[in-house]
Amino acid sequence: MAKKTKKGRITIDRELCKGCYLCAWVCPNHLIEVSDKLNQKGYYPAEFKETDEKEENHKCTGCAICATICPDIAIEVYRG
Ligand code: SF4
Ligand code: SF4
Repeated sequence: MAKKTKKGRITIDRELCKGCYLCAWVCPNHLIEVSDKLNQKGYYPAEFKETDEKEENHKCTGCAICATICPDIAIEVYRG
């Protein structure tokens, strides 16, 4: 039987984000990218970019490393 991978997802509050991209740097699966639209503070916020094309073992696991490192508490993590 195939090994079941842990499932997670995140939301990033684009108005809280100050564009430091620490979250993008630490995500082990490279699921966070830079938005091409400015937020109201004038930063390009981080965006969660998981797609269906991503291989199962490179999807979000809900590990919360991104949320832990975010200095602006802009990331919420959901598991399951
Ligand atoms: S770590 Fe937080 S503030 Fe920095 S880019 Fe990511 S969401 Fe934005
Ligand atoms: S919870 Fe983990 S896998 Fe999911 S986006 Fe954040 S760092 Fe990446």
